[in-house]
Amino acid sequence: MIPKTEKTMTHALEFKNVSHAFDDHQVARNISFHLGKGEIVCLLGPSGCGKTTLLRLAAGLEKLQSGCIEIDGKVVADGHAKNFVPPEKRHVGLVFQDFALFPHMDVMQNAVFGIDPKDAGRVSWIEKMMGNLGLADKRHSYPHQLSGGEKQRVALLRALAPNPRVLFLDEPFSALDTTRRLQIREDTVHLLKDEGISAMMVTHDPEEAMFMSDRILVMKDGHIIQNAPSAEVFLHPKNSFVAKLFGPANRFESIVRNGKASTPLGDFSAGSLLDGTAVEILIRPEAVTAESSDNEQHSAEVLDNHFLGHSSCMHVNVISPADGKTYEIRTRARHGNPLSIGDKASLDIDENHVFVFEL
Ligand code: ADP
Ligand code: MG
Repeated sequence: MIPKTEKTMTHALEFKNVSHAFDDHQVARNISFHLGKGEIVCLLGPSGCGKTTLLRLAAGLEKLQSGCIEIDGKVVADGHAKNFVPPEKRHVGLVFQDFALFPHMDVMQNAVFGIDPKDAGRVSWIEKMMGNLGLADKRHSYPHQLSGGEKQRVALLRALAPNPRVLFLDEPFSALDTTRRLQIREDTVHLLKDEGISAMMVTHDPEEAMFMSDRILVMKDGHIIQNAPSAEVFLHPKNSFVAKLFGPANRFESIVRNGKASTPLGDFSAGSLLDGTAVEILIRPEAVTAESSDNEQHSAEVLDNHFLGHSSCMHVNVISPADGKTYEIRTRARHGNPLSIGDKASLDIDENHVFVFEL
């Protein structure tokens, strides 16, 4: 297993100032990043922000317009036709959302498609992986006889069979139901790490990105907004767009005074933002803990309480001490919350999940 922090001489993949447009629609804007050897990086962003286009450029399925792309330290595209390396010569693997298996070939024929059948080393690796992935007794089944999860495993095996330098996965789990998706993404990340595969995955699911990757590249409108390890993206989002990716938050607007931003839930440090700056304050639901209280001074009142199994989601009304107005606040408790509609509550705020951004 390759440790997450391993430093190597060359990168598995590098984008240098890559820009791309479809007609006059700019979908990649001066993109630079690298993928280290053995690293898994996720491109995370909403539909249409340019994720698939970056994968297609890296795989050579789309002609590069400007900038440079290197794989294993070698230029594969720089906008000059003579330097363009076609997809089949880039030694990359691809797994798509719809798996794209060959329908007229059985599992084994799909798996060995990209390799030389006389390459005993790769054939025996595939045999071993068929066993590891639970496909051994499916070798003669055709794609239409497989479950979604099995198809995904065959697609992964086919992409990895030729021992690619980089694996690209485009929303590879989105066609699977929830239970299967969780299991398969665990199996996939273990396999990629055990085999030391360098991989770039596209997803619009932030939890999936955090689970799978060493690093997340957050994309918006063709820009990379933040490039950091998962925990940093979650705990220190660069702006409100990144913070909001992880679910709806309570949002307020304020003007910084004495270094603080005021909200109906209290005043919070504005960090380095100067007094007079217009700011938005995002308070994640899990930052707000509600407890039963008889104290009439605690003006929170429970509006609803939904039990969600691993957590509960509750809305409360709060009267702001600043302006006397009533605000509806979304809370989330890790375990069930015994409060009922109409109960009075006191609120406690965890400042680690409060973010103040310039408007
Ligand atoms: P994502 O994968 O993040 O959903 P894409 O990279 O697929 O986004 O697409 C980015 C934008 O480029 C979208 O607005 C999409 O409609 C547009 N686009 C993608 N491929 C083409 C194409 N071949 N021709 C024209 N527009 C395209
Ligand atoms: Mg896409």
